[in-house]
Amino acid sequence: MASGSSNHQISKPLADNLHCYLWYGHGNNCNSCLFTNVLEGNRPHILIDPGHTFNEMQEDCLNSLREAIKIDGFSIDDVGLIINTHSHIDHCEANDTLSRKHPIRIAMSKSEEDFRHTLGDRMNTMFGVESPKFTTSLYLQEGILALGKEKKKLELQVLITPGHSPGSVCLYWPVKKVLITGDVLFFGSIGRTDFPGGQLSALKESINRLSQLDIDTIVPGHNTELGDIIKGKNVHRNFQAIKTYFG
Ligand SMILES: [Zn+2]
Repeated sequence: MASGSSNHQISKPLADNLHCYLWYGHGNNCNSCLFTNVLEGNRPHILIDPGHTFNEMQEDCLNSLREAIKIDGFSIDDVGLIINTHSHIDHCEANDTLSRKHPIRIAMSKSEEDFRHTLGDRMNTMFGVESPKFTTSLYLQEGILALGKEKKKLELQVLITPGHSPGSVCLYWPVKKVLITGDVLFFGSIGRTDFPGGQLSALKESINRLSQLDIDTIVPGHNTELGDIIKGKNVHRNFQAIKTYFG
């Protein structure tokens, strides 16, 4: 499944300016998305969930992503904004390396930022991993997040969807009917709620909200045995299956 020297599989772009990088390594890491050429200035790309730097199997996740983005003709060094769906280390650890190299804005919800510095930090200590040190400079709020200008303008709908973690967000792009879910739901499955800050009832409510959107494509935060990106009729089927299995 690897592409070149990358453990990320490069999917067909979901739109001219939306590229998805699906993790197919052996250990854990998240899928990443890249909106290209949106922002003003010399770092115009927006990266959703850069993932691990190195994972528990010592796979070089960040360089794998760097390579995958390069294969698509872009550079991770041209990212000006990182949006994190949530603060679990397998979604945001690489924020540190990337933001040390260049001044990159980093966004997540305020409730997730609060969680990150309290329970989330204690959870990392419990698991014997170091918490990332990056500074969040943009707090995501429920509603429209407008990025870029004029022809390059990108409007994403931010949905605060707690349950897997207290301040998880999903990003919905109405123009292309794409939903990026982080760890709220996957193909045939839902996010874990047994980590600190998880709550099953909240997660079910969040998923119920998402099921009411008009969606063509879901990009989940991880792949499952059943698949990765969820498309077309499978979007509805997936919501139905989740409702049947998880209530
Ligand atoms: Zn997570």
